[in-house]
Amino acid sequence: MTGLWDQPGVPHKGWRCVGMEDLEEPTGRCEMCGREEIRYVHFMDHDDHPTALEVGCVCAEKMEDDLVGPRRRERGLLNQARRRRNWVTRQWRTSAKGNLTLNTDGRRFVVRLDGRHWKAHLLDGERWLGGRKRFDSEEAAKLALFDFVFPVEAPTSAHR
Ligand SMILES: [Zn+2]
Repeated sequence: MTGLWDQPGVPHKGWRCVGMEDLEEPTGRCEMCGREEIRYVHFMDHDDHPTALEVGCVCAEKMEDDLVGPRRRERGLLNQARRRRNWVTRQWRTSAKGNLTLNTDGRRFVVRLDGRHWKAHLLDGERWLGGRKRFDSEEAAKLALFDFVFPVEAPTSAHR
């Protein structure tokens, strides 16, 4: 092993993941081993270490002592990113008033042009939400709805 793995005082186990980031390309480098090139960054925290570390999947598995969780987190992030990309180009229907409507996941999503700006609305059960914020584009309004309803899942760790 190399990097921080060999450095005295750096814990090997008992880390927990406190966040993740998708760099979209393998441009990162794992801070734990110093070798692993990473696309998905696992932010790892430990009570006995002064700073959080940005590491790759292989090291995260060892640090959490969990061979399933880190890989599952990466898949979740990938699915989320794919779904978010497709969201904008799904079959939004145009209403008689010119509003764009999408019914999915038990909700109705609406974006509409209001003057020079776009507004985003959401019918959740009986309740209409949103509509106050103004967006510069149709796409931004749609994505705001997506991020509100489908936030990135918080990482879970067996050690919590
Ligand atoms: Zn590593």
